[in-house]
Formats: sequence, structure tokens, C-alpha cells
Amino acid sequence: MSADRYLYYDDEKFDLYDFGPGHYFSPLRQRLTTDLLEKAGLLPETAVTRAVPATVEELLLFHTPEYIAVIRADGQTPNGPVQRWGIGTSDNPLFRRMHEAAALRVGATLAAARQVIEGRAIHAVNFAGGLHHAHPSKASGFCIYNDIAVAIAWLRREYDLRVAYVDLDAHHGDGVQWGFYDDPNVLTISIHESGRYLFPGTGEPGELGDGPARGTKVNIPLLPHTGPKSWLECFELVVPAVLEAFRPDILITQHGCDAHRYDPLTHLAISTQSMEAAARRLHELAHELCDGRWIALGGGGYSIWDVVPRAWAAVWAVVTDQALPPAVPETWRKAWAQRVPGRDLPDEWHDLIEELPPKDGEDIENEWRHAQNRRVAKEVLETVTRLLRAGVRS
Ligand SMILES: [Zn+2]
Ligand SMILES: [Zn+2]
Repeated sequence: MSADRYLYYDDEKFDLYDFGPGHYFSPLRQRLTTDLLEKAGLLPETAVTRAVPATVEELLLFHTPEYIAVIRADGQTPNGPVQRWGIGTSDNPLFRRMHEAAALRVGATLAAARQVIEGRAIHAVNFAGGLHHAHPSKASGFCIYNDIAVAIAWLRREYDLRVAYVDLDAHHGDGVQWGFYDDPNVLTISIHESGRYLFPGTGEPGELGDGPARGTKVNIPLLPHTGPKSWLECFELVVPAVLEAFRPDILITQHGCDAHRYDPLTHLAISTQSMEAAARRLHELAHELCDGRWIALGGGGYSIWDVVPRAWAAVWAVVTDQALPPAVPETWRKAWAQRVPGRDLPDEWHDLIEELPPKDGEDIENEWRHAQNRRVAKEVLETVTRLLRAGVRS
């Protein structure tokens, strides 16, 4: 691999983004991933890049001045309870240097966008990004500032580009979708567990965009306990065809890995292989449609020892066209073993699907569920391609 073509954003200050002990959204997720990549020999030093925090002016591309002021004050506001801003809640507790921590993650995604669009890198990765739930004036679902939405707004303002965003997280990518709901030059595609069963409750097929943007907001809600086969089938049915119909200039993808069988917060039940296969397809599409311009981000993922490091390491390997070594390095497993006493860290890169136990006692390859998911995906595809073809977009 020629390292100068790829960037990997990392910074010890990413650890500032910490809601405290016991919270699911642990900054250890990046530490474990970077360490695994280093020990697996997949991360050349020259690819690793530090970030600078996004400026207030940059954050204002998506967020309101009032909200930014509250976050800058660590939620210490004289104007009533902070919960109206989505912070000081059990999902998003207050912590010190909240603004600095969140702005740094936005800064990394923004820098990734800048490097790729200015041709200094072909693909760029920020696993500390992908904070898709944050709204202009409200934190939500562990997300304070929305790095994706700020980067998209910046790409729209500076370059007037057609931007495609694909969200693989188990939760609907709501903050990004609503942020550009009436912009026909921003395509959002989210494949997720149906909002009838999971936070944030949105992401229905009928959410298609407003006015000239109708058809550029795409949702594939799946039933709880959907397994690897059905998830990938629905992804393959919809994502490549819609991207081809939209013809973006740049691709941004979110690789939240909480749709995994072992994830404690969702009911989806996919494998690391399904996520890797989707990343591979997105890589091909970035080259076919966008001259390779591709930014890959992190997101959710709460099985932090068994899933997140392997899933994200596999995404980086796909981005950089490297093969994974035969096994998860023993040095990595040993280095972290004392943090999880009494159990082993995974030694295989891939899950043995046959050995994945049913989730919540449900058969994850149930044919009825496959058929329901397939029907939804086909209807979505038909509606969206008809709208895109009819030139409802500008
Ligand atoms: Zn490539
Ligand atoms: Zn999620």
C-alpha cells in the first residue's frame, strides 16, 4: 500500500470524549482499534494523522450559536434545565471539556473531507466520527456535535458537490437525514433496525425528502433479529443501485458496528463478515462513481472487546487494500487481557456464523423474516429509483 494515499485520524485527545465509567460509548473503542491495527502491521505511521478541533464558525455550518454556547460552557447555563439541549441526560451526561472533545471529532471528519476533496488523499478514515444522531440544537444518542452533517454542509458550501452518505449503523442516521431533508444534492441511505423497535424511532421508507429532494432520502428498516444473510441481501439490493442512480461526487460512509449479533444495545444479529462485505462494495462504488473519493467513519458499536476492534480493523484493511493476517495478533490479545479478566479476547478475525448463538432466542436466519425484509427493500428501491429517474432532483 502506498501510505500517502490513505489517512487514518487518531489523537490521544479523542479520549476526552468520555461520558464516564460504565457508559457504553467508551473512547476505548478507538484505542483498541488503533492498537489492533498497529500490532497487526496494518497501520503505517505515515498514514496516521492528528486532528485539530473544528472552529465555532465551522460548527455553525450545522449547529446553532445558542447550542454551541451551552456546550462550550459544559452545560452550565443560566437559562433553565440543560436537558432541553439533550445533555445532562442518562444517554448524554455532562462531562468536562465537552466542547473541545466533540469539536475535535468534527475537526477530524472535516479534515478528512478536505484532504480527500483537495486530492491529497484518496480515502480517509475517522473512527472517532460518525456521530449521526446530533441535531442542530440538541445532543442525542451519545452524539454532541454531528461531524457528518458539518462535513457535508462544508462540502456543499465550498464545492457545491453532490454528496452521498451511507449509514450502516443499527440505528437510523436521523441527524444527517433531517439536516439535509430538502437538499436534492445530498443523498442519505440508512440501513437499520426498524424504529418501531429501536431508538431513535424514525427511518421509515416513507421518509423520502421534501420538495425537489424527494427520493434522495432512503431508509431500509429491518426487523429485529435480522441475521447476516438478510442484512447483506437488503444492502446489495438497494445501496449500489441507488448510488448509481444518484451519481455522487463524493462518498461518506458510517460504519457503526452495533448491528452485530453480540451488540448489547440492538436486536440485529449480523456478523463481522457482513460488515466487511458491505465496506468492500462501498469501496468499489467509490471508485466506480466518485474517482475514489471516500471518507469512512465509525459510529455505534458497544461490544467493545469482541466486535468493534475487529470490525473497524477490517474496514481499514478494505480501505487500504490490505489482507488481514491469518489471526488476531496474540500480542494484542495479551496486551488487553488483564482488562477483561476471566475471559478470552477473540483470536479469529471472522465470526464462525454457524457458531453464533440465536439472539434473544430467535433464529436469525428465519425465512419469513428474510421475506419481509426483502419486500421492504424492493419497495424502497422501486420508489426511490422512480423518483430519481423522474428527475425530481435538480
Ligand atoms: Zn481504493
Ligand atoms: Zn448505533
